[in-house]
Amino acid sequence: MLSTLMSNLKGMVYCCLLDNYWTMVFVSDGCEDLTGYSPEDLLFNHRISYEALTLEDDRTWVRERIESLVQHGERFDLEYRIMHSDGSIRWVQESGGPLFNEEGKLEALEGFIQDVTRRKHSEQVAQEAENRYRSIFENAIEGIYQTTPSGQYLNFNPALARIYGYDSTEDLLQSICDIQKQLYVDTCMREEYIALMKAHGHVYNFEAQVFRKNGDIIWITENAHEVHDADGKLLYYEGTVEDISERKNYEHQIKYQATHDSLTGLPNRTILCDRLQQCMNASDRSGRELAVAFIDLDQFKLINDSMGHHVGDNLLITMAKRLSSCLRESDTVVRLGGDEFVLLLNSSHKIEDIAHCMHRILTAVAEPCLIEGRDFVVSCSIGIGLYPGDGADPNTLLKNADSAMYKAKQLGRNNFQFYTSELNEALTERMEIEYRLRRAIEYEEFLLHYQPKVDLATGKVCGAEALIRWQPPGDSLISPLTFIPVAEETGQIEEIGRWVLKNACCKAVEFQKIMGRPIPVAVNMSPRQFRQENLVSLVESVISGTKIDPQCLELEITESCLAQDPRNFIKTLHDLKALGIKLAIDDFGTGYSSMAYLKDFPVDRLKIDKVFVGNLETEPANVPILKAIIALGHSLGLKVVAEGVETAYQQAFLHGIGCDELQGYFFSKPLPADDFVILMKRGA
Ligand code: C2E
Ligand code: MG
Ligand code: MG
Repeated sequence: MLSTLMSNLKGMVYCCLLDNYWTMVFVSDGCEDLTGYSPEDLLFNHRISYEALTLEDDRTWVRERIESLVQHGERFDLEYRIMHSDGSIRWVQESGGPLFNEEGKLEALEGFIQDVTRRKHSEQVAQEAENRYRSIFENAIEGIYQTTPSGQYLNFNPALARIYGYDSTEDLLQSICDIQKQLYVDTCMREEYIALMKAHGHVYNFEAQVFRKNGDIIWITENAHEVHDADGKLLYYEGTVEDISERKNYEHQIKYQATHDSLTGLPNRTILCDRLQQCMNASDRSGRELAVAFIDLDQFKLINDSMGHHVGDNLLITMAKRLSSCLRESDTVVRLGGDEFVLLLNSSHKIEDIAHCMHRILTAVAEPCLIEGRDFVVSCSIGIGLYPGDGADPNTLLKNADSAMYKAKQLGRNNFQFYTSELNEALTERMEIEYRLRRAIEYEEFLLHYQPKVDLATGKVCGAEALIRWQPPGDSLISPLTFIPVAEETGQIEEIGRWVLKNACCKAVEFQKIMGRPIPVAVNMSPRQFRQENLVSLVESVISGTKIDPQCLELEITESCLAQDPRNFIKTLHDLKALGIKLAIDDFGTGYSSMAYLKDFPVDRLKIDKVFVGNLETEPANVPILKAIIALGHSLGLKVVAEGVETAYQQAFLHGIGCDELQGYFFSKPLPADDFVILMKRGA
């Protein structure tokens, strides 16, 4: 039984001498499988010794080990390599012990040798793999870690320590014993991390800010997962850490640049709507009113154009600072572009608070601003919209604040206006007019009415004023009071003005032909038209084109033409006069009536505004004014015309105080050209 058992063993049972050859005195049948030699070959070194089979590299140490152990009567167990008869190298495991004779003298060894090549190989592979992974672990640029769910490090690589700014892995291990408290800037992040782990078993691109050893804050991203044991019990978290501070800072910088104005550093229009929406949401929650103020600097363009952009830039920077300093922390100033700013005020409770704040801003903005040794003064116009009353969404609210600002501009600038719905209606109407005017210009939907002027000395018509009307097809006649201000603002007046001038001159030529005497026609000029650069050459070409006698053309100018640039204004007047035409100052007494300049104006007529005439009967205070204007006009050698004469009393009175000419419903309303001719023919 023993012999069968032995021959079936995978491996070789042996007994050998402790000589230089490990001379085998017994080997079991397993010898063949193990070495490729038959037992006969090996026994008594018949063909080869076991010593010779042992790989040369291992021979010495195997012998030394065995000898030293058996010397002390101990058993041995070792692994080494032998050379198989087929030339291949085999790993073997040998375990054996000493064999003593009756006298206790070491006589031989006996033991068992088996082939462990396959196990050795897999161990080697595993070792190599382990080495490889260890190298990755040790040399990775990313931090790699394992932590307990409660936040202690189990294992991590040098990169992790480096990322967190520790001198060594030991340094980190000793320093951090609570990841939640010591690592994350926002301690809630660890809770979030764990919640994600619980929900999904992993976290992907988990971005957080952490403290480095020296207290610096960096941005990291983590990818990690749970590791469980065979029973599914959570063992630890395992993951990687990457320092993404550079990317984050860059992103932050890019975002900042995209959302902030480079000149003033204020948030720009890109984030206005977002911010406003946030403020609206906050207002919904708190129930507090939110105010949006639209601010436009009044004289900025003038300064920027005339003094240069560096002055303009400096001015904007100063204004941005002043605006910010008028607000509270929680309020926002946005630069929309150019000289436009928007304020979001979410800390005011009452209208009065907002109004106070606006007063502060008006005052702050209007302070002189010292740039390059010179003082510049600007003011601003502010429009305010309140949430939710004036608009439930950012765009509407902004639009309404903008229209309120527009109204503030119209009311003379340097003031603030709250939005009202009437304002909105007026604005919509205005925009509608602007839109329809474009068509009107294209299709010439205009016509001229003529209102006679009567010479008080002769009682005859001494000329007419051409007054424009707009006749949209299928609609009623539109008064110039409705569309001229719009056209003036949009610049459409220039084209309309050319049309009026040309048509009025044609008619004047026609009237002269029909009546056989000159019938001068007066044409109204609005300020914008008057500032037009080519005005003089335009008038000149109309004169030559229509062949009107220049003496029969009179331009009516209001004092508001003067307001901007007196020197140029006076020069233009002279250039026009040089063409041989007449000039009149219209609506005299309602503007600035700048006496200082009046003497320099080469004008022929003063037209007293109808406000002084219309209520002459009920307003005796107008009497001295009228007398004064007439005296002034005469002393400057001008003819004086009174407008808006509606009653015989007014006519007689004005006659009495020396007025030269009259114009008004008392004689005739403005008439279509044909009716005007009929009127003249009737001999008036
Ligand atoms: P304006 O130049 O002062 O013209 C006189 C205005 O007074 C005219 O109004 C005329 O119809 C009105 N009027 C005349 N007599 C009386 C009267 O007895 N009582 C009253 N209550 N009003 C009288 P209209 O035609 O509506 O023109 C209004 C303004 O529109 C003009 O005031 C002028 O400033 C402007 N305008 C009219 N036509 C033109 C134009 O072709 N070009 C430009 N730029 N402005 C024009
Ligand atoms: Mg007029
Ligand atoms: Mg007038």
